[in-house]
Amino acid sequence: MTSLTVVNTLLQALILGLYAWSGAVSWPVMVAFSAVSLGSSLIFTLAVALHWNLRVPDAWLLYAQLGANVLISLAFLSIAPQLAVVFLASLLVTFNFAMMSFTPRQFFWSWVAFGVCTAVALWLGRARFASVAPSDFNMAVLWLFFVLAVRRLATIGSQFSKLRAQLSEKNLQLTQSLERINELATHDELTGAFNRRRFMQMLVEERERAHRTRQVFSVAIFDLDHFKTVNDRFGHAAGDAVLKAFCALVQASLRSTDRFARYGGEEFVMLMPSTTPAEAAAVAVERIRAAAEGKDWSAILPGHAVTLSAGVATFRSDESIEELLARADAALYAAKHNGRNRFELAP
Ligand code: GH3
Ligand code: MG
Ligand code: MG
Repeated sequence: MTSLTVVNTLLQALILGLYAWSGAVSWPVMVAFSAVSLGSSLIFTLAVALHWNLRVPDAWLLYAQLGANVLISLAFLSIAPQLAVVFLASLLVTFNFAMMSFTPRQFFWSWVAFGVCTAVALWLGRARFASVAPSDFNMAVLWLFFVLAVRRLATIGSQFSKLRAQLSEKNLQLTQSLERINELATHDELTGAFNRRRFMQMLVEERERAHRTRQVFSVAIFDLDHFKTVNDRFGHAAGDAVLKAFCALVQASLRSTDRFARYGGEEFVMLMPSTTPAEAAAVAVERIRAAAEGKDWSAILPGHAVTLSAGVATFRSDESIEELLARADAALYAAKHNGRNRFELAP
């Protein structure tokens, strides 16, 4: 926009040049107007190019541009009243710029300021206004017409301002909705842990990384023991509370690099990057098993304890994710078979 102002200023200078050529205005006035407006446009273009505008609040550049343009137009309105139409039109265009950021309130007050400033400029130059407005009354009518035209612009601008505000509000809602959708797409609603879908993505990424860096990772599948009994004895709501409490327990003891997700039902999975040999992963899994066993569950399940079984598998560079998970699952099955409340390492 600022560069465009320079182009417009050059065009205006050309028009004034034609006026000067035809004798309607003197050459010094034409040169002065062109130099001042081009100078101010170039200063603003430079300010944008050098990012000076980023050091001040957002609207300041606009205010400065508006102020400079209004001052220049008003000054030349009184210096060369015979070109009043040109300078009044230029003032209208300047006012239009405000549409980019003014609020309805700012529009109102700038309209008042415009009215007062043009009245002063017309009054100061009234002695030389005979060609445009032969009498004071005519000049007042000209001013009234101009002020009403600016008022209409201000009204339109205020509408734009309201639309802008609505648009910002909608954008904000959209951003919030997107965040919510993203949260829903990647997290389990009940426990807040990552969901299966996100976990599978993380596995794909981890597998690619393992191929690149030759650092392997391990995966553990957890399954709560006899969870059906929990539901049958204490109800589904208590079962849900156990799932939530279990996740909170795990999140508290998770290493910062490990990723924990709800795989489905009462089954959970954990991704442990860079854990070789498998025994290192086993330490993390054992910590979770012991934490579940050691927790006092009586607040949710009076007289009942929750334990889990787990299977751990360490990635082999030639296997697929499905194969890796199948090995962890087989290890889990073995842990169940070997008496539950324990974990097994996949061969
Ligand atoms: P095992 O030790 O062999 O794993 O026995 P189990 O009873 O845990 O095994 P099973 O897979 O037969 O039962 C899992 C139960 O988990 C059945 C299902 O009702 C319950 N369950 C699955 N998802 C949820 C859930 O979101 N909330 C609740 N409350 N229960 C769930
Ligand atoms: Mg199960
Ligand atoms: Mg189970």
